[in-house]
Amino acid sequence: MNAHDSEKVVGTLLHEGYNQVATPEQANYIFYNTCSIRDKAEQKVFNKLQHFKNSGKGKVIALLGCVAQQEGAKIFDRAPHVSLVAGSASYAKLPEMLVQIESGNRRVTGLDFDTPEAFDTPYTRRDNPFRTFITIIEGCDKACAYCVVPFTRGPERSRTAESILDEARRLADSGITEVTLLGQNVNSYRDPSASKWDFARLLDEVGRIPGFRRVRFTTSHPRDFVKPIIDAIDDNPNLCNHVHLPVQSGSSRVLEGMRRLYTRDQYMERIDWMKNANRDIAITTDLIVGFPGETEREFEETLELMEEVEYDAIFAFKYSPRPNTSALAMGDHIPDEEKTRRIVIVNELQRAIQIRRHSELIGNVEEVHVEGRHESLQQWMGKTSQNRTLNFSGRDAEALSGSYVPVRVTRGGPNSLVGEALSVN
Ligand code: SAH
Ligand code: SF4
Repeated sequence: MNAHDSEKVVGTLLHEGYNQVATPEQANYIFYNTCSIRDKAEQKVFNKLQHFKNSGKGKVIALLGCVAQQEGAKIFDRAPHVSLVAGSASYAKLPEMLVQIESGNRRVTGLDFDTPEAFDTPYTRRDNPFRTFITIIEGCDKACAYCVVPFTRGPERSRTAESILDEARRLADSGITEVTLLGQNVNSYRDPSASKWDFARLLDEVGRIPGFRRVRFTTSHPRDFVKPIIDAIDDNPNLCNHVHLPVQSGSSRVLEGMRRLYTRDQYMERIDWMKNANRDIAITTDLIVGFPGETEREFEETLELMEEVEYDAIFAFKYSPRPNTSALAMGDHIPDEEKTRRIVIVNELQRAIQIRRHSELIGNVEEVHVEGRHESLQQWMGKTSQNRTLNFSGRDAEALSGSYVPVRVTRGGPNSLVGEALSVN
């Protein structure tokens, strides 16, 4: 999401006549987009800002993203060399803010959430000519006890289906064949205009745009994840057979403490829908270890759930206390060494599951969307519809980037697959 936000910022500024340069040293203006999801990410920001202070004399430094939104004008006290602080809902207004800076104002902020322009930044400069993101919903109305996002990205706002489809058609016309519909909780999408489309309907319609071959979405909240989404994937081959469904914990008691609004059984019911679908749907997840009060037994429930689901991939995190969140009041009792022990066990288990699952794929033919070439390995790199990395040989140096190639899987490692392109006649 941050990478796509940066594309919106770059596009907006290029349209105003600014040029992009390769390094901060060459720049007159530095725009630094930031993340505050965990404390480590936030600490990085302040270290980097210190670096800009030393190397950025005479430059205008702008702090963007979640740390900017979270800290607001307090940034100017902590880092007086910063002149502009703006959250993600204000990027369309950056040109106006720069006019203020250029007319001598040393402290400019953009921190409102109710800016109607937030989505329709018409000048996004997309980095990849074949694959891209489309924002469909901003913000989050959930209140997970550990999470800073509702504070940094504000309340939920859905974009109109008309505006989404316009952008999608323009992208298809420009040669893009793969898109990811983006939001903190795409499942609660509801078209604010008369159509009132829900997410499953929107997904299906985007998947039917001529020219698109792969449509993905992220992220899904299990509470709002409904069966019609699976039905849409079953009915429409342009929708990728992959769902990222963050579980966070395998213990219903911990889930309650996290205010995730579902139990383990309710989560598993959604997993069953996917396992019973006609298509072979890859399932990935996010997990947090060491949430306040998580006992050894509750941690083991997470391991058991991982075994039961057999995820295709996971992102595991150590609980990190965040400002403003309700979990702050619960303390942070689990020592970092214990969180480390738990995350190591989680990652080892997942590695074994992936090795097992990948070995089952040997001999299969998968369609790969080619992303580029690894010259040193003499291999093409790409992704399957299930979002697995599959590197292959068997095709020489033709320009394959952006094309779809059938590949037979010959080997499976823990994180990726290797294969041979089927010969072309
Ligand atoms: N909106 C998405 C996730 C956004 S954040 C969702 O609800 O699934 C991405 C992931 O970061 C979360 O799924 C969670 O696993 C992790 N995360 C969020 N806050 C965290 C915190 N305080 N400590 C550790 N991990 C956290
Ligand atoms: Fe954070 Fe929960 Fe919202 Fe996801 S659903 S962004 S984890 S509050």
